[in-house]
Amino acid sequence: MFIKLILVLLLGWIGFSLMKRFRLNNPSNSKNVKGQKMIACDVCDTHVPESDIIVKNGKNYCSKEHME
Ligand SMILES: [Zn+2]
Repeated sequence: MFIKLILVLLLGWIGFSLMKRFRLNNPSNSKNVKGQKMIACDVCDTHVPESDIIVKNGKNYCSKEHME
């Protein structure tokens, strides 16, 4: 019973340290884990990858059609 408790604590500690290490290694990539940051179009609210978004006058658009 006592051994089991130590084992659970040990596993928890290992998991926690791995998570901490992963976060330290990727301080700026935390929001880009799934690839790119998604931005919502101001017209239709569709989420588009940051590189595909069209920014005009401080607003975000998913396509040229919504820019007008
Ligand atoms: Zn749109």
